[in-house]
Amino acid sequence: MFQALREKLRSFKKKVKDDILEEDVPGDSVKGKKEGAAKKGKFKKRKKAGKGADTGDSELLDGYEGGWAGKKIGEKKMDDVLWELELALMESDVAVPVVEEIKNFLKKELIGKKISRKYDIDVVIESALKKAIMNVLSIDTINFDAFVKSHSKPVVLMFVGINGTGKTTSIAKIAYRLKQYGYSSVIAASDTFRAGAIEQLERHSAKLGVKLIKHQKGSDPAAIAYDSIEHAKARKKEVVLIDTAGRMQTNVNLMDEMKKLKRIAKPDMIIFVGDSLSGNDAVEQAIQFNNTVEIDTAILTKIDADAKGGAALSIAHAVGKPIIFVGTGQKYSDLDEFNPNWMVERLFE
Ligand code: GDP
Ligand code: GDP
Repeated sequence: MFQALREKLRSFKKKVKDDILEEDVPGDSVKGKKEGAAKKGKFKKRKKAGKGADTGDSELLDGYEGGWAGKKIGEKKMDDVLWELELALMESDVAVPVVEEIKNFLKKELIGKKISRKYDIDVVIESALKKAIMNVLSIDTINFDAFVKSHSKPVVLMFVGINGTGKTTSIAKIAYRLKQYGYSSVIAASDTFRAGAIEQLERHSAKLGVKLIKHQKGSDPAAIAYDSIEHAKARKKEVVLIDTAGRMQTNVNLMDEMKKLKRIAKPDMIIFVGDSLSGNDAVEQAIQFNNTVEIDTAILTKIDADAKGGAALSIAHAVGKPIIFVGTGQKYSDLDEFNPNWMVERLFE
């Protein structure tokens, strides 16, 4: 997962280390450059022993004048190096505004800061990069389990997204998770458009032991959702999972149909399902679906096969809604809770 992006970040760190440091900033207790250079070996050794330095705290960057001997990051050099980072992120399908945000954050974080020789520059860079990435991902997160627990029942969840992204599989995974947590649920087969959609859900619901409410192919999706909610109320089922036809975001009729479905079902949470492998397309889809029905959260699928990580880094920033889960494989249990730490851990492992 994310191997290409991880590699690029690693080579960025190396590049910074090799190129970025400008002048020696002599500290009060150090007489000059020469002595500073001679001491380098010693500092390295000392650094290696100090494992706990990778904390991202401000101690790493010493802005205060005098005191330590150190080096400074110059603006010009930073610009050159950031250009490399920009390319690396673009190649990884990170959306342009997110690239800008990461760049600007790093600039603010690093330029002109004096870096104490107590620390390796790459530790400082990695810590700044981690902070920059946390920053673009830090949309108010929603804890799914707490959301389900605290909401009045039945909790209605509506899944939207285009075909083939893994929407059906994600619904089954959520039904499985809910079952593990002791909740009863019912699935609404409101994708009456795609051939095979109902059958696919029938197989999942049989395996999971979850009730499926379905009508004929071609019937009104809103009526099915309505029936499912009535069923849940009558049978005291706690969660309703509504599948919807996987329309292209450009199909106006189907997008209108989805608005109607939303009006009737009044979902507590609209979950956009996007395929991480489609990179920038997934981000565009999230924006369009958000414009049409206002999504609340996102699930990003197939992250197990995603080398680039661009969609994972961009979606939350693009729509201002958090990714709550990522699909990590084809089994029902292959669903990980997503949060900024999860991402950062995998990018710098
Ligand atoms: P839908 O058309 O959006 O309902 O997509 P499906 O749920 O039918 O999934 C399309 C394909 O993607 C299927 O082969 C799924 O097994 C596969 N898939 C879904 N989620 C994941 C995931 O997280 N990882 C992997 N590797 N495959 C997935
Ligand atoms: P078939 O398509 O009727 O042969 O049924 P399968 O046993 O191959 O599975 C149907 C769908 O359930 C496939 O898309 C599987 O990827 C999906 N599936 C997702 N998670 C699981 C799981 O944990 N176990 C099984 N058996 N199937 C799963």
